[in-house]
Order: sequence, then C-alpha cells, then structure tokens
Amino acid sequence: MNLEKPIITVTSPLLPDLKEFEKLLEDIWQRKWLTNNGYYHQELEKALAEYLKVPYISLFTNGTLPLITALQALRITGEVITTPYSFVATTHSLWWNGIKPVFVDVEERTGNIDPEKIEAAITPRTTAIMPVHVYGTPCNTYKIQQIADKYGLKVIYDAAHAFGVTVNGKSVLEAGDMSTLSFHATKVYNTVEGGALICHDEATKKRIDYLKNFGFADEVTVVAPGINSKMDEIRAAYGLLNLKQVDKAIEARKTIAAQYRAGLQNIKGIRFLSDIDGVKHNYAYFPVFIDEQEYGLSRDELYNKLKENNIFARRYFYPLISNFPIYRGLESAVPANLPVATKLAEQVLCLPMYADLVDYEIDRVLELFFIS
Ligand SMILES: *Cc1c(COP(=O)(O)O)cnc(C)c1O
Repeated sequence: MNLEKPIITVTSPLLPDLKEFEKLLEDIWQRKWLTNNGYYHQELEKALAEYLKVPYISLFTNGTLPLITALQALRITGEVITTPYSFVATTHSLWWNGIKPVFVDVEERTGNIDPEKIEAAITPRTTAIMPVHVYGTPCNTYKIQQIADKYGLKVIYDAAHAFGVTVNGKSVLEAGDMSTLSFHATKVYNTVEGGALICHDEATKKRIDYLKNFGFADEVTVVAPGINSKMDEIRAAYGLLNLKQVDKAIEARKTIAAQYRAGLQNIKGIRFLSDIDGVKHNYAYFPVFIDEQEYGLSRDELYNKLKENNIFARRYFYPLISNFPIYRGLESAVPANLPVATKLAEQVLCLPMYADLVDYEIDRVLELFFIS
C-alpha cells in the first residue's frame, strides 16, 4: 500500500445528519417500540411508496430476504431462469428455496439477461424468470414479459441496483410480478442493512407481510412457514432521513458519471455505459469494460495499478455466479453457454462512485488510465 496517497474506495455510504438522527432516536426511546411494524416502519413504507411511485411495498431487514420471500409468496418451485452476471444473493435465493437455477447469457451492451436466449432454456419444470437490472440499467421488461406470458411464467426482478430508476416516467419496479430492493450500506439508498419487496396488489402485500413475520396473521394464527425479516425502528428512522437527501446524491453521481465519461471517451479499448433515452438513471455504479488487446493492459493489470495507488476499484461481477463451486456443476453453468457473461466478467472494473467523490479524486482515478 502506498501510504502517501489517501485511499479511495469503490463506494462510501450516504449518511444522514447525525444531529437529526439523534432527535429521532430520542423519539424512539420515548415510544419504547423498537420493531414489529412500528411508527417509523409505517412512515418509511409510506414515504418510499410515494417516492418510488409504487403502491405496495414491504420493508425487509436486508435485500436477500425479499428475494427468498418473493419465491415463497409466489410458490415458485422447479427451475428458475436467471442471470449469472449478478451478486451471488440472486442465485442463493433460489438455492434456499430448493429451486434449480438455470443460467442464461446476458446482453453485451447492458449486462442484463438476454431475452433472445430465454426461450431455449425453458423446460416443463420452469416456473419463473429472475432477471437483474444490473448497475441499475433496466432490463428489456417488455420482451421478458412477452415470454413469461407465452409460457405462463412468473417474473421476479432483482432490482437491488435500480432504486429510483424510471422508464418514460414509470418506475422500473412496476415490471413483472414482484421486484426486490436492497438498502445495504453500499447501495445508492441505504438503511445500513435493509431491503424491500414490491408487489402489485393488496392481497399479495398482506401475504408478504405475514411471511416476513413468521407467518403470523394475528396473535394466534400462523398461515405460512414465514421467516423473520422485519426492519426495526432505528433503521427505518435512519432511512427516512436518507430519503430526504437521496435525490441530491443521485444528482452528484450523475455529475461524476459525466466527468468519468468525458475523461475516458478517447481512450481506445475502454468502454462504458451510456444513458438510455427515456430512462432516469441512478448511477449506482460506474463499470468500465477493458479490451486488453486494444487498451494494452488487462483488466487485472489496471485493477492492480489502481490498487497500488490506493484506489480500490472492484470487479463487479467477477467471478460469475455460475463459476462458484456451489453452482459450477449445473449444465447451464458451462462457460460455453455463457460467452458474453464470461467476457464481461473478465473485462469489467467498477470505478469509485459515490456522492461525496470530489474532482481531484476523480482526476486521480482518470490519470491512471493513461499508459505512460
Ligand atoms: C446487494 C445485492 C443483493 C443483496 O442485498 P443485501 O441487502 O446485501 O442482502 C441482491 N442482489 C443484488 C444484485 C445486489 O447487488
């Protein structure tokens, strides 16, 4: 490690004002109601429903349990088609439900599941599709829904990266049967740990709320083998404060993305994502894809060069989920079935991206891209 240069990490959490948070903590101490659908839990659900433009949202203690619970709520079994180009939690949620993951390759442009390749992976045991809006870029939800409707499949979106993303003014969370969010400290919007499950009708929300509370429908009635994944009052209060500043944070991220793009646009062999017409992006990540032949350095050489300069970029998503020993044995996990995902995993590097990143830090990252 180079001790002279301050460390720049890939992300840094959005924190609420401590004095404001203290006031809310005092209120929670007064109320003496710490969890189980308390005042701040209800307030945050209302505020998020409004902010995200979705009528039915249930808060969770993290972003993995909503995935597991969505599969339970929709009674998904058998095989589920999903993407290997994501955070492991996506596929783990299938494993925890005894479901067989079937990996389908992704689109080179976005990194999202390739709708053209879904149909070939459908078998009589297929019951659902679980795509991911990787880096917050919306999937082709129209095509995915067409396939789902044709074969009678459910669609659960892992929207962990897609907080606040809209397409032509409509929330991306409206797509499919359900969508999940993560409010982990590293995400655009955080409640330290936290998450949410979005559905489209009141009866389903009710079922989700039973499932996240052991299956209790009332004091003496248990209607399902539910789990405990309730968000507590302290993190709900923290979340209310962070919601007030998330728009400003997304604006700052947008400016940083523009600075990165301007700095990288003329470097051969470096590709980055562009904004899509009609999409309001959240700039959750700034991935670049390195073509070793054209650029002159491999992704790992660049990764190490940044690291030697105390800049900790991350290889999201490498390795592919399908390459972890747990899943490697599946027929769909063979690299020959996933050429595009395999290529992206070898090329990708996510640069530091968070609201507080300042100009000279961005310059420090950019200048290391020039090979001298
Ligand atoms: C962060 C993340 C999750 C899991 O969320 P946690 O809140 O960490 O449990 C799931 N899927 C994706 C794509 C993620 O990035």
